[in-house]
Amino acid sequence: SKTPVTVLGLGMMGTALASALLRAGHPVTVWNRSAARTGPLVAQGARPADSPADAVAASPLVVVCLLANDNVADVLDALGDRISGRTLVNLTNGTPAQARELAARAAEQGASYLDGGIMAVPQMIAGPHAYVLYSGDEKAYETHRDTLAVFGGTRWTGTDPGLAALYDLSLLTGMYGMVIGVMQAYALVRTEGIGAEDFSELLVPWVTAMLAGAPEWGRAVDSGRHLTDVSSMAVNHAAFPNFLATFRDQGVSGELFAPFQAILDRAMEQGHAADGLSRIADLLKLDHQNA
Ligand code: NDP
Repeated sequence: SKTPVTVLGLGMMGTALASALLRAGHPVTVWNRSAARTGPLVAQGARPADSPADAVAASPLVVVCLLANDNVADVLDALGDRISGRTLVNLTNGTPAQARELAARAAEQGASYLDGGIMAVPQMIAGPHAYVLYSGDEKAYETHRDTLAVFGGTRWTGTDPGLAALYDLSLLTGMYGMVIGVMQAYALVRTEGIGAEDFSELLVPWVTAMLAGAPEWGRAVDSGRHLTDVSSMAVNHAAFPNFLATFRDQGVSGELFAPFQAILDRAMEQGHAADGLSRIADLLKLDHQNA
């Protein structure tokens, strides 16, 4: 009585998704470009298909997770109207524009389309901390939500199919910013032989405490009111050359941080000396810059 599901793409993520569906008792049909990868899943009870068309014929719900959306477009092309009447859930990482384009193509081919952003690594799938962002066809989402919940939490972001990718990329942007800062700090402490792992004992609580300010920055960004009594742009502008000088003196590249100096300079030039760092989000808007 559980919904049959087809999984197209059995990389690390696709394999984790198919395996979770099998463990939850769904009939699962799998296809992968390199057929050898179906082996472990077939051992768990999946049915292997010879082609995407053969695979989608088996299920009303089709999950696709390939390397890139170009690969998804190729598979969709090959399927033609054989995807008609089915729901395609695309969990491949991509851009909002790609998601909108694939949604339009799927609609032309008679399929319902959901785009998704997986906020988990394969080992987390079906565990308590995994969740997936969804956008697109809301009716298809409601119909298949219980099945999709096998992967972890489900989070609806809206009917614009590009929104799941926008949320996904925005969350990962925050992560990359954090990674960049941590790596720069490690490179800097290592110049004096300080152990990066030891240093993490100071770094993690510090960054965590600073991150607690994010909701307040968010309120400032939403309202456009950036005046602060915490740490002004003027004070950061005065201090930041010390960072670039220290990177240089210690033999660490400043290439990731030099752009930050440029935006602090711009904030001062444009009269935002008394604002907090939340002003930066406004300064990044390209239309604002050109105005
Ligand atoms: P893998 O490299 O393990 O798997 C890639 C998959 O794409 C394989 O099934 C591969 O097939 C297939 N593929 C590549 N090129 C083509 C092509 N031209 N035509 C058909 N199939 C193709 O990657 P992951 O499983 O880790 O990632 C898959 C997607 O999931 C990516 O978009 C990734 O960003 C996203 N994702 C991954 C996460 C992770 O932690 N791994 C986390 C969140 C999202 P073949 O076996 O034949 O090479």
